[in-house]
Amino acid sequence: MRNLIKKYQIRPLKRLGQNFLIDKGAIKKIIRAANLGPKDIVLEIGPGLGALTQELAKKAKRVIAVEKDRRMVEILKETLKDFKNIEIIQGDILKIFNSQFSIFNYKIVGNLPFYLTAPVIRKFLEDEKPPKVMVLVVQKEVGQRIVTQPPDMNLLAVSVQFYAKPEIVSYISKKSFWPQPKVDSAIIKIVSRQLRKHSEALRRERSSLRLRVPVSRQFRERFFRIVRAGFSQPRKQLINNLSKGLKIERERVKSWLLKNNIQPTQRAETLNIQEWISLVKSLI
Ligand code: SAM
Repeated sequence: MRNLIKKYQIRPLKRLGQNFLIDKGAIKKIIRAANLGPKDIVLEIGPGLGALTQELAKKAKRVIAVEKDRRMVEILKETLKDFKNIEIIQGDILKIFNSQFSIFNYKIVGNLPFYLTAPVIRKFLEDEKPPKVMVLVVQKEVGQRIVTQPPDMNLLAVSVQFYAKPEIVSYISKKSFWPQPKVDSAIIKIVSRQLRKHSEALRRERSSLRLRVPVSRQFRERFFRIVRAGFSQPRKQLINNLSKGLKIERERVKSWLLKNNIQPTQRAETLNIQEWISLVKSLI
């Protein structure tokens, strides 16, 4: 890695969140978390200088790596040219990856810039063909916010846990990156609930699989409208946030909450994902 940086005179771009992994131990941890086998197809987000890409390619059948920075793409094409199972694609992962990619039953691996964490998770969990698993390196605090449980829930945690079961697999010290970021990182593993449910069908029907979205778009929109209203002022009681945000009379909100065994004085942070789902289902 040091040689590459020197040879190509690389100046990392802050705006693209470029902190490169320079620690073999950390790379091993990520690869282990992805649990790759010779049939796996991996979509790598933000390969950078390819530290992870090579290791992924040694274990998986095929690696598709999407990188926004044209300079990195040039370097990767040169340095990874001997790997026949790696495809490098230049582009913004939030714009370029859509149904035109005919891959399914794939895994996502990536050491993501901070600002991409939430949009990437959301995009892929909502996709018609969600990945089997996402293994992401994120800021430690963001990882902890995603896996948290009541009484410390937050909007991001509810959004991820609605679709998936997230867990922190391990931590990575900030010393494992160059340039060194201000905070440590966490490796999180996110397994889509949708795919768990469909794993039987998946085994039977590998080639023609088309997964349905986990729930109807209508339910999803309603779910997030209600959750957002609940969290609109995190220190306030649910009865206040919900009646104001959804424009429903306080008395109606009160009986709606009580019917679900939730005290109107509770705060949004204290509800678990199942309680949110029941609450949304029972709003007539
Ligand atoms: N995977 C490399 C590693 O671990 O050393 C680089 C990780 S670095 C934290 C994040 C990488 O994501 C950078 O190479 C950056 O250029 C790339 N990137 C940033 N925004 C992107 C986007 N929207 N789509 C694709 N790649 C992006």
